[in-house]
Amino acid sequence: ELSLTQENIEGALKAAYDKYKNIDEGANADYIPALAKVDSDIYGIALVTTDGKLYTVGDISSEVSIQSISKVYTMALVMDQDGTEELVTNMGVDATGQVFNSIVAIEQYQGAEMNPLVNAGAITTTSLVDGKDGDEIWGKILTKYEQFAGRKLTVLNDIYESEAATNQRNQAIASLMHAYGHIDNNFLRATDIYTRQCSVGVNAKDLGVMAATLANGGKNPVTGKQVTKTENVPEILAVMATAGLYDDAGKWLYKTGLPAKSGVGGGIVAVSPGKFGIAVISPPLDAAGNSVRAQKAIADISNALGGNPYQVT
Ligand code: GLU
Repeated sequence: ELSLTQENIEGALKAAYDKYKNIDEGANADYIPALAKVDSDIYGIALVTTDGKLYTVGDISSEVSIQSISKVYTMALVMDQDGTEELVTNMGVDATGQVFNSIVAIEQYQGAEMNPLVNAGAITTTSLVDGKDGDEIWGKILTKYEQFAGRKLTVLNDIYESEAATNQRNQAIASLMHAYGHIDNNFLRATDIYTRQCSVGVNAKDLGVMAATLANGGKNPVTGKQVTKTENVPEILAVMATAGLYDDAGKWLYKTGLPAKSGVGGGIVAVSPGKFGIAVISPPLDAAGNSVRAQKAIADISNALGGNPYQVT
């Protein structure tokens, strides 16, 4: 039975958790040195319904870096600030067909025809947040994430320092986006703030609430606070559906129908609009950069609960 009863949800979570607990596929990201050292056995699942009920299994307290999942929430902030058209005209809302940190994708259309969820578009999106200085901009970004998660969050400094010391490629991407007129003179500051946003620590529960807030039209179902404009949520979810799981976004949508976003820290958030948000953390990634366990567990759970928004029953 495809309904969101406590029994069905708890059963689906436990079944998926147990089924994938002992698989031994994938590997931690290591191009950011500190990510290679994260405990590969962290594995937690959190599902939050739009009426604010939280269901969890496994490790929901260990924090990993949010990484690219942050891109969704900075995008939401910029949409709240400027509306939904600015991003379309700046970097676009199309899948690139290239890796997330592609230089080729920038060159192809001089920094257009991309989207806010690949690095070039994401660093540009971060650069669009208004503020008198870096501190004010950073404060707005962190506050937005905290409102989505419903609690205070902090940067994982070992991750930040490791990425800041090795992010020359992202600096190059930002320089190109500046050269093509997408980012202003503060392109290196934007890269640093972007690196910081990627290093925010989150646990599976935080990510579940962050996903559920999108499932609930931008109103955090746990705190009851409207944290992003309801009218922008369809556009946020559309970009997630198009480009949320790197090169495998199409395969993922084909299988689940769920707008989602992954990060190289091992988290994935997915949204069943009007029903629930779900998140899984498990650091080992497949070749496309998506958490192996998270993809499998979310797909099974959503299937068991009728989460696919394209499925008419
Ligand atoms: N901070 C990471 C980077 O820019 C994010 C990558 C990701 O999670 O996709 O390389």
